[in-house]
Amino acid sequence: MSEIITRQVVLASRPQGEPTDDNFRIVESPLPACGDGEVLVRTIYLSLDPYMRGRMSAAKSYAEPVPIGGVMEGGAVSEVLDSRHEGFKKGDFVVGSTGWQTYALAKGAYLSKIKIDSKIAPLSTAVGVLGMPGMTAYTGLLNIGQPKECETVVVAAASGAVGAIVGQIAKIKGARVVGIAGGKEKCDFVVNELGFDACLDHREDYLAQRLAEACPKGIDVYFENVGGKVAEAVYPLLNNFARVPVCGLIANYNDSAPPPGPNMAPALMRSILTKRLTLRGFIVSDFASQRDDFLKDVTNWISEGKIKYREDIVDGLDNAPRAFQGLLRGENFGKLVVKVADAN
Ligand code: NDP
Repeated sequence: MSEIITRQVVLASRPQGEPTDDNFRIVESPLPACGDGEVLVRTIYLSLDPYMRGRMSAAKSYAEPVPIGGVMEGGAVSEVLDSRHEGFKKGDFVVGSTGWQTYALAKGAYLSKIKIDSKIAPLSTAVGVLGMPGMTAYTGLLNIGQPKECETVVVAAASGAVGAIVGQIAKIKGARVVGIAGGKEKCDFVVNELGFDACLDHREDYLAQRLAEACPKGIDVYFENVGGKVAEAVYPLLNNFARVPVCGLIANYNDSAPPPGPNMAPALMRSILTKRLTLRGFIVSDFASQRDDFLKDVTNWISEGKIKYREDIVDGLDNAPRAFQGLLRGENFGKLVVKVADAN
């Protein structure tokens, strides 16, 4: 096979606050030949996800940061071009953390073959509703949130990759579901297309008051995706024994220090005690053993029309940095994916 040149988006510098174009650089490098246990892949769809902001920072977290000059980390759907791993052959479609680049040499042990029935959902959903974000929604809600019939579930970033699926699974479980999203268009979609019972725009005034009106029986499950002002409106409404899967805090991802303002901690600790709340942080990989159950259930729900999903597909790897910056400002509408190449 002739030498493959991969086009890559690398981390040029660490952002101070919101990422800018200057934090990214596009380079081209030759890929070495496929070694033992390795697989050469061509990227088709690159997933853009909020966690990538954490990888751009050197702050201590659950995963190592991307080094300066390193390829930006990211999950992708790819086609196998060459394989020296027994599990894969040329022409297979795989999903794995192969980064922001057009081609990648990956260890076969870290790739999974995509088994999605194309009559049910397209390949791109392997990084969306049938991939990491869908599994985050499924595992976080069912293991930690544990919604019951007639309970009230509130989910933030409700039109997004994770939130949209959380709310629909909560509806399947018989709960009353209230979403919170940015703007009228997203709120209308959440109610009219996804079937939530209500959705509130967090950009409008008096969120706490409107939320209290939308949740007259209080809140039993709050699926925390954003933190910040949304969380401040939600916490006083939590019922006794409420459960809070703490999935993400995107409102603070661009902060270099904890935000100024009222210190919520003492009040929050008091309500954890007096209301016997359960707040539990999780990373989707904590529930890796539930992948087969997730795929079976969510695939069935999609084919039965009980789960709908929306993708926001951007064309071309070079547009990934701008699209990612927009994700942190709420400019995406649905699961954000970059189409890097055609599937055939
Ligand atoms: P989304 O597709 O929902 O996109 C991010 C959305 O966050 C934006 O569209 C915007 O929606 C909302 N947002 C951004 N800033 C703010 C803000 N200041 N206040 C309120 N909302 C804001 O992303 P995902 O569904 O992929 O991720 C949702 C959350 O889940 C993130 O926090 C992410 O880090 C987390 N996550 C955690 C995982 C885990 O393993 N724990 C795995 C995957 C995701 P809007 O316009 O509606 O405000």
